[in-house]
Amino acid sequence: MTDSSVAQTEVLLLMGPPGAGKGTQALKLAQARGLHKLSTGDMLRDHVKRGTDLGRQAKSIMDAGELVPDELIIAMVRAELEKQTPVRVLLDGFPRTAAQAEALDRLLSELQVSITAVVLLEVQEDELVKRLLSRAEREGRSDDNETTIRNRMQVYQRQTKPLIDYYQRSGQLRHVNGLGPVDEVLVRIAEVLP
Ligand code: ADP
Repeated sequence: MTDSSVAQTEVLLLMGPPGAGKGTQALKLAQARGLHKLSTGDMLRDHVKRGTDLGRQAKSIMDAGELVPDELIIAMVRAELEKQTPVRVLLDGFPRTAAQAEALDRLLSELQVSITAVVLLEVQEDELVKRLLSRAEREGRSDDNETTIRNRMQVYQRQTKPLIDYYQRSGQLRHVNGLGPVDEVLVRIAEVLP
């Protein structure tokens, strides 16, 4: 007999603007639900640190607050997802463009799994900028300076926000208020998940 609670597939998407707290929540949520956390931002920063080809291509793009080309990101995510059996993942920071969302749909259908839910962390813009600037002081991430932050916000509005309508229409979107203590936000997320 197999334990279906362990074997069950799960695909959660965590969306939200820069500074909404995706990374923090992704860590806790993945742990709580036994999911493999796939954060494209973390993966890219790791490539930069290791000085890989991808890292060298991505560095200046990330520092400018622009998006790394879809093909590179999609290949990176595909390689990770294909390693998973059963697929139990939390995607943080992916998809970020329509092309990435379409590629994800194709990839998941190849793997015969479907999206469990899409969580949108909502925080208003002045709070986002405040959080990112204070993170800049603590962590010194090279894209957390005021000019790059403003650009990341614009890129989010232009390229990623349309995806919210896409997932809203598909009935998979769950809105969560991202303001307040980390553990409270985590409880709110848990409440909207199946
Ligand atoms: P934030 O959500 O605060 O912008 P991330 O760590 O998710 O932080 O992303 C940092 C940077 O990495 C982005 O500004 C972008 O350059 C790059 N990046 C991360 N994920 C993607 C993605 N899915 N597509 C393209 N670029 C990405």
